[in-house]
Amino acid sequence: MAPDDVEELRAIVGQLRTNLEARGRSGLVGVVTTKSAPKAAAPVAAAAVVEHEHEHEHEHEHVNEHEDGGGKAKTGKAGLKVVRDELGDCKRCKLAPSRTNLVFGVGNPDADLVFVGEAPGADEDAQGEPFVGKAGQLLTKMIEAMGYTRADVYICNVLKCRPPGNRNPEPDEVASCEPFLKKQLAAIRPRMIVALGKFAAQCLLRDDTPITRLRGGFRSYEGIPLMPTLHPAYLLRDPSKKKLAWEDLKAVNAALARVGIHPPRPPAG
Ligand code: URA
Repeated sequence: MAPDDVEELRAIVGQLRTNLEARGRSGLVGVVTTKSAPKAAAPVAAAAVVEHEHEHEHEHEHVNEHEDGGGKAKTGKAGLKVVRDELGDCKRCKLAPSRTNLVFGVGNPDADLVFVGEAPGADEDAQGEPFVGKAGQLLTKMIEAMGYTRADVYICNVLKCRPPGNRNPEPDEVASCEPFLKKQLAAIRPRMIVALGKFAAQCLLRDDTPITRLRGGFRSYEGIPLMPTLHPAYLLRDPSKKKLAWEDLKAVNAALARVGIHPPRPPAG
């Protein structure tokens, strides 16, 4: 078995363990291999998947919450609203005074697939939406090449405010903002995360291995498979690396297909 397959298998086992533990806590024990209904807001049909505990909170009944041990935690759109409300007019770090807009995230609150970037740039700060500048336009093309649209997936960043002059995020800024990213991911409960570039990957994985070595191999973030890949801004600077990123995204599609999740449209060749 190839090392990547071993890593992916490890991530899947971790995910299964998390699911079974959560099901055990909620009194739902066992692994169901057919899905009763697709996620209400999800764009893709999942026919025969290993049931993900959090997917089966009967979204079609609009319950939108799941057991988190101490009570019911809201998920999906309602869960993201709780996180957004908690952020409020955030002044937790030194980026607040220079921002135009806080850039929370965009897309499907029940997405199977989430893309996490680094921080808003000038265009994102101006528009309040992640990945709308040049790098964002490339990311949109990459998402579309996978067979999705921006509305099918969810897109957000580690930092919600623009670092001045697009400098790198600083540790205190990451420390203030990362809890909200974690809460967003807990609300969305995706089946796969794509970490775009070194900051997102190193932050979510707590691993300072260079992105050039991290990329292309599945890892696990709290039981969810995570693919680190190259940041679109880097790909704009070095277009010869686009094929590496495309390999990573094809591997993501293939891994999702193995659990019955397919993009709404055929991916590019
Ligand atoms: N780069 C990022 O990491 N995020 C954005 O939203 C835009 C550019």
